[in-house]
Amino acid sequence: MSPFNRLAIPPLPERVVVYDSTLRDGEQMPGVRFSLEQKVAIARKLDEVGVHQIEAGFPAVSGSERDSVRAIAGLGLDAEVLCLARTLEQDIDAAVDCDVDMVLLFIATSDLHLRYKLKMSRDQVFERAVKATEYAADHGLRVSMSTEDTTRSNLQFVKDIYLACHDAGAERVGVTDTLGCASPEAISYVVGEIRSALDVPLSAHLHNDFGLATVNSIAALSAGADAIATTVGGIGERAGNVPLEQLVMVLKNLYGKDIGISTEGLTELGKLVFEAAGVSLPPNQPWIGPNAFSHESGIHVAAVLNCPMTYECVSPESVGNRRRLVLGKHSGTSIVRSRLSEREVGATQDQICEIVREIKRRGEQHGRVSDDEFWTIVDAVLSGSAGMQNCGEG
Ligand code: MN
Repeated sequence: MSPFNRLAIPPLPERVVVYDSTLRDGEQMPGVRFSLEQKVAIARKLDEVGVHQIEAGFPAVSGSERDSVRAIAGLGLDAEVLCLARTLEQDIDAAVDCDVDMVLLFIATSDLHLRYKLKMSRDQVFERAVKATEYAADHGLRVSMSTEDTTRSNLQFVKDIYLACHDAGAERVGVTDTLGCASPEAISYVVGEIRSALDVPLSAHLHNDFGLATVNSIAALSAGADAIATTVGGIGERAGNVPLEQLVMVLKNLYGKDIGISTEGLTELGKLVFEAAGVSLPPNQPWIGPNAFSHESGIHVAAVLNCPMTYECVSPESVGNRRRLVLGKHSGTSIVRSRLSEREVGATQDQICEIVREIKRRGEQHGRVSDDEFWTIVDAVLSGSAGMQNCGEG
């Protein structure tokens, strides 16, 4: 009995590289600022779980940003350390100064961005992209060249830039869905077109505005991309990015592809990042949220106590999370029996029913029933002070 449905598995590249941008795009989440210590702690934890590349920051932003990128590059991590730079000499100089393994150069290519942001022609953008690549390569940096807003750009223009930048020394080129406004089919088309035009490592940086970031990352991989940008919990600009833990779990469990990132540390990593960000982890965040393995319904709890796979397709331990059996208006007798037997407390069927009725009554009034409340109810019922009534629940 398999816990998954693996009836259709898309073609995937031999090696999938995750370049995590929690420290760069993640920190661009409105209101978020990580301290140097927090950045170092997050980088170490990302490295510990096995993320291949860490985008440590955007050195041109400020002196302290430069300090933190330099500090992370100097930690001696197994992960390669990357930083972001515009196609400007001053930005590339800052990247050189930080001693990173690779610089992520980016320049916008959509007509919208050319006209209203860069105020440049396509020829000017092309020339600047190539010159910056040459400049970075001449200064000893490995280069990845990303075109911002790729999914709203002229595809031939994008391909021309990639080909020229690859010739100029870029070892990787990058597609971005900066606005998160492409469907999985559109991502598949764009990536496939680029893949057939050039045989170069290809990355995808995808946003979640339509809630499609994870799906689009799979579309990109199956169309020929081999590197995906993620952030922990999907934090980032607007609706955020591809959540690291979702990408890893989909690949590992639904497609049977282990990309070398250990899943057991994911919940701890999530807690670390959300705490540092000063943002509460959404309860229903897949895999790492507190509700990811919580059960209240009496039907579910009874089944989970019998065989967890009935309502959990992976174990909470496999992502470092834990199961929570919650007491509330949906509770049944199974959870009560289970809690009582954990403490070896005996009770008759009538007493158990009375306890369930009281849990339901309180749950109706104020949602969850706490552990303390539960044992108060148990004491009252077992001492007879609650007054016995017929049980409405079997
Ligand atoms: Mn972004």
